[in-house]
Amino acid sequence: MTDHGNGRGDSIAIVGAGAAGAGAAYALRNAAIDVTVFEKSRGVCGRAATRRKNGCRYDHGANYFKDQDARVTELVTETLDTDGLAEAEGPIWTFDADGTVSEGRDTDDHKWTYRAGITQLAKRLFDRTEATIEKSTRVGAVERVDGGWTIADTDGTDLGRYDALLLTPPAPQTADLLAATEWDDDLRGDLETAVRDVSFRPTITAVLHYPFELDRPYYALVNTDKDHAIGWCSREECKPGHVPDGESLLIVQLGADWSADRIDDPPTEVIPDAADLTADLLDDDRLADPDWTDYQGWRYAQPGDAVAAEPLDRAAEHGVFFAGDWVAGEGRVHLALRNGLDTGDRIGKRLLS
Ligand SMILES: Cc1cc2nc3c(=O)[nH]c(=O)nc-3n(C[C@H](O)[C@H](O)[C@H](O)COP(=O)(O)OP(=O)(O)OC[C@H]3O[C@@H](n4cnc5c(N)ncnc54)[C@H](O)[C@@H]3O)c2cc1C
Repeated sequence: MTDHGNGRGDSIAIVGAGAAGAGAAYALRNAAIDVTVFEKSRGVCGRAATRRKNGCRYDHGANYFKDQDARVTELVTETLDTDGLAEAEGPIWTFDADGTVSEGRDTDDHKWTYRAGITQLAKRLFDRTEATIEKSTRVGAVERVDGGWTIADTDGTDLGRYDALLLTPPAPQTADLLAATEWDDDLRGDLETAVRDVSFRPTITAVLHYPFELDRPYYALVNTDKDHAIGWCSREECKPGHVPDGESLLIVQLGADWSADRIDDPPTEVIPDAADLTADLLDDDRLADPDWTDYQGWRYAQPGDAVAAEPLDRAAEHGVFFAGDWVAGEGRVHLALRNGLDTGDRIGKRLLS
């Protein structure tokens, strides 16, 4: 087994390379702490995700992040490389359960992504660190050993020993990890209960591409009464560098109830229904027949509430920390990043005190 610590509390394993994990690694970049990040997927930035297909680039999870947190805004606009920082151009309009579209709901907030996609946010944060990032590695079990933590992947392969642990997967996945944790303490049960109590709603994303331009006065439509099958529909071509001229790419996010009903259905059945709903909402029959499509079922898309703080504070005494949108209390990239930064600061103070 590789021991990443030297007994002075100077190694940490971060589970998850999303905005929160990247924020924590960034906050620890100058501390004398050896940081290893384990990420189950092949890329970084988690639910703020980008894909490339047929000359298009599209953010099929979080659409953009906002400038609503001063620390995050300063980081993005002054500290990190701003080359390729881009905004979704155009207002957000609304629609109701009947599909009636109305102007408005726009604010002065920036709607940030990058020309190369929103995943650049985590990439640029990690680039500023010395952290080791182990991709395609799903952590499956954790064990308390000699005042530290050993972790293993889902095949049981040992991933080393660390002085501290930061868990950032969505709450239901973190609760599963806690359930698989060998830690002889009532605290483990209290933690699992508190984390499992956080509700998460699913979202199905249908990506619909068309070989023609759509002339609309808005970037996106959002369903405000939450009673329409579609929750959100945006035009990825409003983001610089994402869609070639003369083409359109719609990101359609189905509402929570519709998504919950259909999350286990095959994409081949879900996509045509999503395209029909889109054609109806945008009142354009051509939209029922995209020339290519893509799909992502987000089983754990966004949290409905925040985790109880008390067991998390107790866990910190044992060197286990938690970060993410469900710790912050709302599914937003800037909040997850801020929570990761703050948690990283706290870990640094605690390990090095
Ligand atoms: C469809 C959709 C639309 C959204 N729209 C917006 C939006 O427009 N604006 C906005 O601000 N926010 C939006 N959000 C929310 C935003 O994406 C999240 O709040 C934010 O990305 C959460 O970051 P995080 O680091 O907390 O979690 P995540 O991004 O989920 O990161 C956790 C990471 O842990 C990894 N992981 C999980 N389990 C394991 C394991 N066992 N071992 C190793 N790795 C593991 C995951 O692969 C993931 O990369 C949206 C989310 C979705 C799904």
